[in-house]
Amino acid sequence: MITYEEALEIILNHSYKSGNETVTLPESTGRVLAEDVISDINMPPFNRSAVDGFACRKKDIRLPLEIIETVKAGVHPVKKIGQGQCTRIMTGAPLPEGADCVIMVEETAEISSDKIRFTAEDTKPNFSPFAQDISEGERVLESGTLIGPQHIGIMAAVGYVNPRVSTRPKVTVISTGDEIVEPDYKPGISQIRNSNGYQLVAQVARAGSISEYLGIAPDNEEDTFHLITKALAMSDIILLTGGVSMGTYDFVPKILEQAGIEILFRTVAIQPGKPTIFGIKGNKRIFGLPGNPVSCFTIFEILVRPLIRKIMGVQQPVRKLQMPLGIDYQRRRTDRMQWLPVQIQEGKVYPLEYHGSAHIFSLATAHAIAAIPLGITKLYTGDLLDVRPV
Ligand code: AMP
Ligand code: MG
Repeated sequence: MITYEEALEIILNHSYKSGNETVTLPESTGRVLAEDVISDINMPPFNRSAVDGFACRKKDIRLPLEIIETVKAGVHPVKKIGQGQCTRIMTGAPLPEGADCVIMVEETAEISSDKIRFTAEDTKPNFSPFAQDISEGERVLESGTLIGPQHIGIMAAVGYVNPRVSTRPKVTVISTGDEIVEPDYKPGISQIRNSNGYQLVAQVARAGSISEYLGIAPDNEEDTFHLITKALAMSDIILLTGGVSMGTYDFVPKILEQAGIEILFRTVAIQPGKPTIFGIKGNKRIFGLPGNPVSCFTIFEILVRPLIRKIMGVQQPVRKLQMPLGIDYQRRRTDRMQWLPVQIQEGKVYPLEYHGSAHIFSLATAHAIAAIPLGITKLYTGDLLDVRPV
């Protein structure tokens, strides 16, 4: 049995680089930039007033100031400021030539309709200088950036309206098991609703990729083979759930081999999720995930998600947080790394009630999953855990 770290290394060593495509700006949310984004402008494009007030020379603020012009945002001033002069200026408007500060309207008093005086002690410059934020030709976003709303704003600011992004690996999802029924069906005695299929589809979407759900393979070799062959023809990554442990009807490993898939590992020292298969066929990547929903969920987050992100060229490493336990924690067996559903309160980690890998409801209020390392029985309040937000 290999460790989590070894399994992850094998998987990531079998990553590949996806292609590129052009999308529209709104479509690019959640995608990964495939090239650097370069600014086509200076920001600010002019000395830009940060307040409503009067632009003047700092050395004149003790003098009565004559208003020679009014400029609003979007208009360029035409008059140059000389001694004892000012321009009435709005937030966002360009500073007139000759001015080196803007006194705030709140700190002035009117002397007459075209004259004001400054009433405060001192003033800040109150404007943002030309190109303070970015210069034309400068890189504003790096290739490999996972695009969020803030990056959309940045791309809009520099006119990068047709983002070049990496293509998403196409994922197919197959559930297995004679006892599994679709969620719109009331299960009969000894039946179980298909949680994993839909959970996986949602996890793939959250990881930034696209998937297609292919249904439930009953526990027989022909149907399982048929669905795996279909999935191989239409996807880059195949996620099967169930049928991977040691039971008489756990056909998945055998059928994967029959379908020409080379299996690179079958078990990992993780709890929950020990029966986890990873295989390859050409440029296809195949996961046999455990049937129990918490195992399936956990293994996707810690082993499948990193592969999807690497294929898409995400440069930010997997978000790893080290957080202290809020209580003592004890467990009996230590031969596997254990992942627990946890809540985070005031910076501390609290394990949730958890009855085992079939207890899907334990995830209902989970903020994260947290890892207890292999070989450790007892952990104390304040001990640091590896935490993955979910
Ligand atoms: P298996 O590995 O096929 O023996 O499945 C292990 C456990 O997970 C069994 O109790 C199954 O009923 C359950 N299980 C398998 N597939 C699913 C699924 N898609 N949704 C919910 N539970 C499942
Ligand atoms: Mg099964």
